[in-house]
Amino acid sequence: MKKQLTVEAIEHGTVIDHISPGQGIKILKFFELSEGLQRISIGLNLPSHDGSCKDLIKIENTVFDQNQANQLALFAPKATINVIENFEVVKKFKVAIPERITGVFTCPNSNCISLNEPVDSRFDIKQAKSDIKLKCHYCEKSFLSGLFSELH
Ligand SMILES: [Zn+2]
Repeated sequence: MKKQLTVEAIEHGTVIDHISPGQGIKILKFFELSEGLQRISIGLNLPSHDGSCKDLIKIENTVFDQNQANQLALFAPKATINVIENFEVVKKFKVAIPERITGVFTCPNSNCISLNEPVDSRFDIKQAKSDIKLKCHYCEKSFLSGLFSELH
């Protein structure tokens, strides 16, 4: 029951569990969580019940919606979102990789028309084994999701 205690240690907020090791920091950067007023705890390389390691993020007074969860899926496709109220998990769901993501990322291709035109960036998402690729709607180039997290 140790895991249960870890999850329930905040009164109200979101716990992102089962993040692949190394992705926790990228997720913080991507959502710019560390710049907000929320209290955030991050655990890196924690032991997972299956014997491997995981990262875990706890954010107080913030509830992730499905849209944010889908963006999160690009960095942590196996993550579980726990919504906490009064120290209890009231909702638990797995992230799902969206088919398309609009207006979130900037295209890494410096020649891409989307950088100079007043349009929302738009990517189609494809998952191939453990890699997640984003294909730009405008320049039709494909990029790994890891590259995006660096550029944001
Ligand atoms: Zn592009």
